[in-house]
Amino acid sequence: MVRHNYKGGNHEKIEYDVLILGAGPAGLTAAIYCGRYRLKTAVVAKSFGGTANLAGELENWPGFIGSGFDLMEKFKSHAEKFGARFLQAEVSDVRKEKDRFVLEIGDKEIHGKSLIVALGTEHRKLNIPGEKKFAGKGVSYCATCDANFFNGKDVAVIGGADSAAKAALYLAEIARKVYISYRKNEMRCEPISLKKIENHKKIEIYYQSVPLKIEGDNAVKHLVLEQEQKDGKMKKIKLDVSGVFVVIGATPVVDIVKNLGLKMDKGGYIITDKEGKTNVSGVFAAGDVTDNKLKQVVTASAEGAIAAKSAYEKLKFMCK
Ligand code: NDP
Repeated sequence: MVRHNYKGGNHEKIEYDVLILGAGPAGLTAAIYCGRYRLKTAVVAKSFGGTANLAGELENWPGFIGSGFDLMEKFKSHAEKFGARFLQAEVSDVRKEKDRFVLEIGDKEIHGKSLIVALGTEHRKLNIPGEKKFAGKGVSYCATCDANFFNGKDVAVIGGADSAAKAALYLAEIARKVYISYRKNEMRCEPISLKKIENHKKIEIYYQSVPLKIEGDNAVKHLVLEQEQKDGKMKKIKLDVSGVFVVIGATPVVDIVKNLGLKMDKGGYIITDKEGKTNVSGVFAAGDVTDNKLKQVVTASAEGAIAAKSAYEKLKFMCK
């Protein structure tokens, strides 16, 4: 495999058949399929594995139970085996010039005949006082990455869906106490997780609560919540915690492709048809960045495969 790190130079001006933006399950699967279609393929990403890397224990990739990181390593070596070229770089601009796509990377450019956008999502922020100040000093967006810093300590998880549930259960294995703050009156995670949470001695849930601020000195010391009481009055609650895990979903990473004129839904997710086609000819999208309903490794991978097939068919047609 040839790996180019554009920060260190080493530029070659090559035109690819397919440029894949993003190297999570969607991008990596697209790379495997493009390779098998014998398309000259470049995968461009800041890092490899995407948010799947953060899944401690993946239990719903058929035939595999293990860490998301390990599975992504397998995806990557699989894609490499079929000739995908990996460019670890930050793309500053993406544009279409006639029937070609151009990725700007620093002062360099790479060109491709088609583009698969598989940029995934990034963590949503609370935007409350203290969140930014204590990021990396107690505020975290990834339990599986940071749980070990909170061995024997008290932590809080904000959120009430699947990721928050998983994070709380994972943290409860390591921390002394895990508080969950959720704005509604019943968590909407998978029932199997909810049952585990409700039966867990270390986990305490504050329903109908919203976080107001995170306080501390050099690191997080308190989370201040506001909880609606039975009489409708609001009560302030100050939790003594060393860690606050913000697990409130994600937003699609679409900024760098905004100049392409891709149609998006109201959440900013790229609208695709069943073949992974977008409204822009030659641009396909796959995985969590699309308006799909189920955001899982298995669906992202399937969409990556479909986008690759569509790109292949489009290129075949162009060659005729
Ligand atoms: P979701 O978008 O599903 O949930 C986000 C959670 O954060 C919701 O509970 C939401 O509240 C809450 N929230 C959003 N914004 C705020 C805010 N500003 N302040 C406070 N709370 C907020 O994200 P997930 O990451 O949990 O899940 C994403 C997808 O991945 C889903 O499809 C999920 O099923 C899937 N997934 C599956 C897993 C599995 O093991 N099967 C594991 C992890 C994720 P509200 O409920 O009120 O909207």
